[in-house]
Amino acid sequence: MKLFTLLRQKIRRYFAEHGYTCDFCGKEVFDYAEHRLCEACESSMPRNEQSTCPKCGRQTRSAGVCLTCKAHMPAFTQGFSPFVYKGKAAGLVNRLKNGQPHLGLYLGEQTAEYFLKCHSVQESEQPFLVIPVPLTEKRTQGRGYNQAAELAEAICATLDRHGIRAELDLEVLQKTRETGQQKHMSAIQRMENASGAYHVHKRKLCRDRAVLLIDDILTTGATGGECAKLLKNAGAKAVYFLTPTAVMENK
Ligand SMILES: [Zn+2]
Ligand SMILES: [Zn+2]
Repeated sequence: MKLFTLLRQKIRRYFAEHGYTCDFCGKEVFDYAEHRLCEACESSMPRNEQSTCPKCGRQTRSAGVCLTCKAHMPAFTQGFSPFVYKGKAAGLVNRLKNGQPHLGLYLGEQTAEYFLKCHSVQESEQPFLVIPVPLTEKRTQGRGYNQAAELAEAICATLDRHGIRAELDLEVLQKTRETGQQKHMSAIQRMENASGAYHVHKRKLCRDRAVLLIDDILTTGATGGECAKLLKNAGAKAVYFLTPTAVMENK
């Protein structure tokens, strides 16, 4: 299994260095890896640049904590998302989940860069413990990969390029029960649905650690909040929730 993972990583790195087309539209990009999107696609990515919620990091309509957090303050320390979940960013995330794991490179790199821009890393936080939100084993096997793990790998590599120490662990957090389609659920339904669906396997590893919890999208924060609660109960001193995209605050 380890050998397989290593081989898979090598193949992916090869393509990451030798690709030459825009990850979104397929147009030629001559300095690929430096730039994974062509100029036109890059400039139309919906960046999360206006006012953001100081807790979950989503784009807000006015300054201060967003309405979703006000209603149910999530257990994670702070959330960070470089993009708003719409337009090209939503397109990339949906494709990441549907058969294009290599898109985790661009989205993961952007997420790590954004985190470093917003958060000044302390020596005492390193090495970060990097944990992707898991899928159930059945779901991972069905899809062939976990999109959050693809993002987490790219995030670790990007942090490493900046001299920030981080350790990826795919086993600390496990999903024990299927949560099904959350798309049409209310915030409270999502919280109830996420409750009890995850389990911390290696509790000792979490003690006094700063954790980067990784997922593809922040919607209500129910999943991130539930996982963060468990990680904090296991002793994590901080849990930063990093997602490439976040749904904008409702009206
Ligand atoms: Zn393009
Ligand atoms: Zn919020």
